[in-house]
Amino acid sequence: MRPFELRRAASVEDAVLLGASSPTAQHGASVRYLAGGTTLLDLMKLDVEHPAHVVQIAHLGLDRIEVSPDGGLSIGATVRNSDLAHDERVRLGYPVLSEGLLSGASGQLRNMATTAGNLLQRTRCVYFRDPDRACNKRAPGSGCDAMEGYHRNLALLGTSDHCIATNPSDMNVALVVLEARIHIAGLHGRREIPIANFHLLPRETPHIETPLAPGDLVTHVTLPPLPPGTRSGYLKLRDRASYEFALASCAVVLRTEGGIVEQIRIGLGGVATRPWRAVRAEHMLAGRPLTVAGVEAAAAAALEGAQPRPGNAFKVELARRCIVQAIRNVAGEALQ
Ligand code: SF4
Repeated sequence: MRPFELRRAASVEDAVLLGASSPTAQHGASVRYLAGGTTLLDLMKLDVEHPAHVVQIAHLGLDRIEVSPDGGLSIGATVRNSDLAHDERVRLGYPVLSEGLLSGASGQLRNMATTAGNLLQRTRCVYFRDPDRACNKRAPGSGCDAMEGYHRNLALLGTSDHCIATNPSDMNVALVVLEARIHIAGLHGRREIPIANFHLLPRETPHIETPLAPGDLVTHVTLPPLPPGTRSGYLKLRDRASYEFALASCAVVLRTEGGIVEQIRIGLGGVATRPWRAVRAEHMLAGRPLTVAGVEAAAAAALEGAQPRPGNAFKVELARRCIVQAIRNVAGEALQ
């Protein structure tokens, strides 16, 4: 690990100033915020991340889960994944989030990992984590060894000629179907971004993963309230259940009335370069009776446009089946 300077922020405002202080800060590369450290420290040891300054933020009081004025939930940036998953308001009101969190990593990691850290989790592409290999995300313009190499766990949707890495977070897939909003403190004040605009497609710049500027600090995430009668759930398919990243996963939020779909949101993980919203599939199901045939057609539509490579082509069918089963699990007897 390379030498770095460890700084302790006195407040959120101080953290922002420290975060933006490096003259070479670009996309936060020279300064990193440290809370749980479950991703950052690994990547620093691998020499993938080499910040000149690391700013501690775990003690800033961003560790609270509170009911928002609109009846939704406000989740602090440094709330631990375990605490969030087991919070009664999350378990009962947003089960898709609890299930997503509990399907990720191990108990020990969830006890350390935080909301903002999970939100900003880096890809598990093996070439990204190996400084001796070509990777446009780690070293812009160097190429992409995954295209012709090992890409079994990489993406089919939202890919580009420059990168096919998946966003590895289960929590993020739950957050997209809950239409979370990301709250940020920055040099020019506070702002919020819908999660749909937070994770960027790789396009020609896979090293730019979010709209965050130097100094920007995620302070909390808010979830809007869900109407009464809304159900939700998360299904994750992977090589082993004890601890593994998704080959395909699906988050569902569903509300039916008299057998008709009032609202459905479908998110996909493990198959896309960012937490993926299957909008076309949602449109095919909304306002109609929820039938097996309709769900199967919508699931097939969700994978239209997929661009598999030889090593991950099996995930087209896997993801399709994952969607069908996830909706079955959530709908129960509402599925005709
Ligand atoms: Fe790097 Fe993306 Fe290619 Fe993986 S898929 S090697 S992260 S550019």
